[in-house]
Formats: sequence, C-alpha cells, structure tokens
Amino acid sequence: MSTKEKRTEISQLGEFGLIERLKSLIATVRPDTVAGIGDDAAVIDAGNHYLLWTADMLVEGIHFDLSFTPLQHLGHKAVTANVSDIAAMNGVPSHVVVSLGLSNRFSVEAVEALYEGMRAACEQYGVDLVGGDTCASRSGLILSLSAIGKAGKDDVVKRSGAKPKDIVCVTGDLGGAYIGLQVLLREKEVYMANPDMQPVLEKYAYAVGRQLRPVARTDIVHELREAGVRPTAMIDVSDGLASDLFHICARSKTGVRLFEDKIPIDAQVYNTAAMEFKLDPATCALNGGEDYELLFTINPADFEKIKNHPDIHFIGYITDNPEERILVTKQNNLVPLQAQGWNHFRPASESGR
Ligand code: ADP
Ligand code: MG
Repeated sequence: MSTKEKRTEISQLGEFGLIERLKSLIATVRPDTVAGIGDDAAVIDAGNHYLLWTADMLVEGIHFDLSFTPLQHLGHKAVTANVSDIAAMNGVPSHVVVSLGLSNRFSVEAVEALYEGMRAACEQYGVDLVGGDTCASRSGLILSLSAIGKAGKDDVVKRSGAKPKDIVCVTGDLGGAYIGLQVLLREKEVYMANPDMQPVLEKYAYAVGRQLRPVARTDIVHELREAGVRPTAMIDVSDGLASDLFHICARSKTGVRLFEDKIPIDAQVYNTAAMEFKLDPATCALNGGEDYELLFTINPADFEKIKNHPDIHFIGYITDNPEERILVTKQNNLVPLQAQGWNHFRPASESGR
C-alpha cells in the first residue's frame, strides 16, 4: 500500500459504522432475499415460510477469558448467542454449524468439553448441530457459529416496525451479565495477587450465571404467539438496552422515552453494583449487554393480552420524533438516553475487554 493511500482506523467508525459502510458496498439482487444486512438475522423466502439466517462469533481475549470461563459454558453461550438472534426475529431456530479456530494449547478433552456445552444447548433449544469447520489458530480460541431457523411469513418481526405510541417491553432482567463479569474479573485479580485465595462466588451466583451461561428467550416467542401478540419490532439485548433500543429507533425512524424506574434489575445484581462496585445499577442495565433478553415493541391495543405476564416488563414508549431519546429518571427528570454499548474497536490505548 502506498503511503499516500487513505487509511481510516476502524475505531473511527466503530463496529456499527463499519457494518453500515460494508452494507453500502453490497447490493442484494435475488428476489428471494427479503432482508439482508441490518437486522438480527437475514430473511430469505423459502416458499411457504421465511428462512432466518444469522452468524455470531466469540473470540478469546475479546468476548471471553478462559481463566474463568468453563469450556462447557462457553460452548453453551456460543449456541445461545446465535439462537437468540433467531428468537429476536420472532422465529424458531432449527440448525447450527460451528467453525473452530484452535490453538495448540487445547487438548482433545478440552474441545470435547466445549462440545458438551454446545450439545446441551442444542438439546435445550431443540436445534441440531449439523456441521462446521476446524482449523488451527495462532491467536487463541475462535468460535464462529451460524444458525438458521424459520418464521411464518406473517410472523417475522424486524427492528424496523416500531410505531409512535407503541409500548417498549423487555423480558427478564438486565445488567446481570455485566455485574457477573465484574465479579469474575475482580476475583481473578484477587487470585492473581494471591493464588492461595479461593474465589468466593456463591453470593454472586445469579450474576455470574448470567455472564457465563445466558439463556436465549425462545420461550417468549412461543408465549407471545399463544397470547396472540406479534411485536411490531424486536431485537435481542446483546450490546446493552440503550444501544439495542437505538437500533430499533434508527430502523423504525422513531424516538423513545424510557422510564428508569421500570427497568428490571435483579435485587442481588442491584446491590452488588451499587454497594460493591459503586456503579449505578441503571447504567449497568442500560449499557451492560450480553443479557440475551428480548427487547420489543407492541401496539398498545395488545397490552391487555400480556400485561400480567410475570417476565415481561413495560419500560417506555415509542415517540414520533427520531431525535428524541429520553430517559425519565426516578426523580422525574428528563435526560438524554446515552448508549455506550460494547465497542470492540476502541483504540488499543483504551481497549475494554
Ligand atoms: P447482533 O448483535 O444481533 O448479532 P450485529 O450488530 O452483529 O447484530 O450485526 C448487525 C447486522 O450486521 C446483522 O444483520 C449482521 O448480519 C450484519 N453484519 C455484521 N457483520 C457483518 C459483516 N462483516 N459483513 C456483513 N454483514 C455483517
Ligand atoms: Mg441480535
């Protein structure tokens, strides 16, 4: 490359900016390509239904630290991350393929442990593992999975369908995976300083479990269908509530108002964040990521049908002004909603995880 050629650092664009730029280079031309880059999964016309297709990669040193991540859990999480993207399209997952980059640090037994986790996840979600690829890696473990699933043509839900006045809903609770990671990192530091100290994790079992072994909400897809509710827009919370909500708003060309006191946070996670890490629990929930809950919007007319669901929380509403992204705080102040999300392309000097 000549020194005169333009060079743009990936960190200047960030992950989302880079994907937008790549998207502009690729035009889809086939009539059966219903939706390409830009949602949780691609949508392909398969005749009498839609095929959903997604890929998600986990890289050692970026997404996980093997010093505190059991391989079985990691295998399970890799399948979960992919299945979650199919659920986020309101679809049902069916098959995964697995590509592995393995360093020579790994034994056969270690790879088997990884596969035991993937097998358990496949059983849990009712999907079959049907292939993949294996090669050597000089930069640690790489787990690259792809999943397919299907949805009825009237059932598929994109990020782009939210309408003003729609109610913003989220399942489960948020921030747990982030606090679990903070606990694990803290215990690792303690252990490194003094290997005789055994990590005390029982007290943090819920948060640590959320980080190491998250669950994709395929159950919610079925329950919404049974209740006769089709979300207007949906995404899974992988980057963080704020960032993922912004994806819905951007694609739907809408704004949003979110109520801080409605954001679901587990009590143990709340206390650990506030007391031990001096972190604002709401900030953890808004920006933590990796909870793999479903974030969706519904037509207000559907509220009655799910208002008593124990695991669906109503946290805000969609507005017509795309500029408006507001958090209504517990003190009833209106503040701009910020999305930090996870940016793996930060300059090396400030790299996060
Ligand atoms: P998610 O968090 O749901 O997995 P991502 O933020 O990873 O979604 O991806 C957003 C969209 O960009 C998806 O439609 C995905 O298929 C697409 N995408 C991501 N990386 C690439 C890439 N390198 N080339 C083409 N499309 C990509
Ligand atoms: Mg997703």
